[in-house]
Amino acid sequence: MAASTVADLRSDTLTRPTPGMREAMVSAEVGDDVYGEDPTVALLEEQVAGLLGHEAALFMPTGSMANQVGLALHAGPGQEIVTDHLAHVLRAELGAAAAHSGISARSWVADRGLLDVDTALSIIVPDGGPYQVSTACVVVENTHNFGGGTIQPLADLKALREGTRAVGVGVHLDGARLWNAHVATGVPFADYGACADTVSVCLSKGLGAPVGSVLTGSTEQMARARVLRKRMGGGMRQVGILAAAGRYALEHQLDRLADDHARARRVAQAVGTAYPQVVDPQTVQTNILVLDVSAAGWTAGEFIVAAAGQGVLGYPMDARRARFVWHLDVDDPMSAHATEVLLDLLGRGVDDRG
Ligand SMILES: *Cc1c(COP(=O)(O)O)cnc(C)c1O
Repeated sequence: MAASTVADLRSDTLTRPTPGMREAMVSAEVGDDVYGEDPTVALLEEQVAGLLGHEAALFMPTGSMANQVGLALHAGPGQEIVTDHLAHVLRAELGAAAAHSGISARSWVADRGLLDVDTALSIIVPDGGPYQVSTACVVVENTHNFGGGTIQPLADLKALREGTRAVGVGVHLDGARLWNAHVATGVPFADYGACADTVSVCLSKGLGAPVGSVLTGSTEQMARARVLRKRMGGGMRQVGILAAAGRYALEHQLDRLADDHARARRVAQAVGTAYPQVVDPQTVQTNILVLDVSAAGWTAGEFIVAAAGQGVLGYPMDARRARFVWHLDVDDPMSAHATEVLLDLLGRGVDDRG
C-alpha cells in the first residue's frame, strides 16, 4: 500500500456523516424539542424504543449524558451502582455519577469486561438499612469497550435480570455499541432490551451519525429523564436535524457493521497467528482489537507512537495494551496497511529497537 495511507483506528467516534446522511439532515422536519415539538426527534425516539421493546425513549446529546441520566433514574445521593472495573460509566465519564448525582460505586474485576453474574449478585446490597450503602442498580456494558468489544452472553444478561428483579435492584445497560452485539450475534434488540430497565445507545459511534445517543425505559422514567436532561443542560431545540442523521444511520448503516467486524477479525487473525501471546483472535468478537504489546517487548505508549509514524493510529488503553477500532471510514486497503504495520512493529523485538 502507498506510504501515504492512513488508517485512523483511534475510535469509531471518528466517522464523518456520509453524503446521504447530510442530505437527510438538510431536509429534516424540525421544531423546538424542549417544547416537545420536533417531529423527527419524536420519530427517532419511537423507533428506538420500539426496537428495544421499551415504552419510551429520549434523545440525548451524548452517551455519557444518556448513561448519567439513566443512573440517576435508578439511584439517589448516598446510594450505589455496581458494575465491572473496566466500565465506561466508571472509567470514562469523569466521576459524573458522584459529581452530579451523589452516587457511589463498587465493581467486580472483569476479564475482558465480561459480566460475572454470580459475583454481581453476591456483592449487591438491596437494602443496606442504616449501616450499609444500598445498591440501586447494576450496570452492564454491551459490547464492552475497554474489554475489547466483548459481547455479553444473552443467558448471563437474563440471569442477572432475574436475580436483580427478585431483590428489587435495577439494571442499566450501557449499549453504546449494542448495535455491534446485535449484528454479530443476531440476537434481537428486544431480547437485550428485556434484560434491562433502562438502555443507552450511541448513534455517533460505528453507526456514523455526527452526534447523538438515545436513552430508553418506561414512560414514567422518560418523563423524569426529560427533567434531569434539562437540568444537566441537555435540552436541545431544533435537534431533528441530528435525529435525522440517527434515523438515516439506522436505515442505511446498521448492517454494514458486519464489515467492520470482518476487518477487525482478519487483522486479529494475522497478528494472532504470528504473535499468539499478543492477541487471541477468538476474543475479537466485534470491531475492537486490543493488543497486549507488552508481550512483544513494547509499552503501549511507544507502540502507538511508532504505529502512528507509519500511518496507523490507535489508542493506548493502559501501559501494556493498545486499542484499534474499525468503523465506517476504514476500508480494506487501510486494513491491509494496518496488518502490515502491526506485524512489522511487533516483529522488532526490544533489542532491534536498541
Ligand atoms: C462512547 C461510549 C459512551 C458514550 O460516550 P460519549 O462520548 O459521551 O457519547 C458510553 N459508553 C460506552 C461503552 C462508550 O464506548
